[in-house]
Amino acid sequence: MNKLKTSGFAALLAFVAMSFFIAYSPLPDQMAKQPERTLPVSQIAPLVVPSAAQATGSIAAPGNAGAEPDSDVEQPQASPVPAMPHPAPSAPAVQHVQQSEAAALPDEPEVVSRGLIFLDPGHQRRGNSQLEPVSPGSKERKAKVTGGTTGVATGKPEYVLNLEIAVLLKQALIQQGFEVQMTREEHDVDISNVERAEMANAANAQLAIRIHADGNESPKAKGFSVLYPDARVEATQSIQPASQHAAEAILEALKAGTTAASRGMVARSDLTGFNWSQVPVVLIELGFMTNPTEDELMSDPEYQQQMVDAITTGIDTYMLNKGD
Ligand SMILES: [Zn+2]
Repeated sequence: MNKLKTSGFAALLAFVAMSFFIAYSPLPDQMAKQPERTLPVSQIAPLVVPSAAQATGSIAAPGNAGAEPDSDVEQPQASPVPAMPHPAPSAPAVQHVQQSEAAALPDEPEVVSRGLIFLDPGHQRRGNSQLEPVSPGSKERKAKVTGGTTGVATGKPEYVLNLEIAVLLKQALIQQGFEVQMTREEHDVDISNVERAEMANAANAQLAIRIHADGNESPKAKGFSVLYPDARVEATQSIQPASQHAAEAILEALKAGTTAASRGMVARSDLTGFNWSQVPVVLIELGFMTNPTEDELMSDPEYQQQMVDAITTGIDTYMLNKGD
């Protein structure tokens, strides 16, 4: 008897336990957790830099001194997309979707752009000698994009150095809260100087920065300079004062932030890339690739970062003071 009671009680216990187990076992995971997707804040295309061996094809082609420093290619870049973390589905399906989304919002990093800066790394692997008008409506025509100069010591083509600096500058500007687009992030492109200007126009950039390096017959020529549209050019009247202010800010920052020699500001009326611009534009000549010492220096990572930080400071100063 006693035994019977005991086993009956045990059966009851087992039943209760089973009921609990069934009632509280987790539901099948219908809302399988999605793997977290994190989009990179900035997507920098891998650079294809020709090896030293490839680049030695032509050592130093001086004589490019006063040559038109415009031209290059660009690939419009998608703006960085802020990562949208998927709210992790919580176990009880009771929670409202709206609630969980709302709860996720405060965690979103606030992305407030300080403005769009357009970078044009000068030149490209192959120049394009077809002609285009030097300014809207002008009968004067110039090559669409020239080859640029070459480092006498490094053997590095100018278009390679220009892109190295532009990519670093892009990173530095993004860190300062700017949006950045570039005319090109690779060398095998064919983008004329008019097209480069029109890309910045179409993007309605706050400022376009053209990155170049100088060349001269004399290996002694050295130093950086900042070019801006000449005030006498009709086509660029509306952007001239702002461009000059930007050039001043960048030149001052380069003087303060690097040990290199300053060649000052240079007004230019003959640059296609200026004359077609509808947004403030400057051209930075980083230094002379025809000067062996400066050529080596401009490829030194530490000095590159110094230049980039200085240019970033200059852009920052201009953007802070430009009103509007
Ligand atoms: Zn150039």
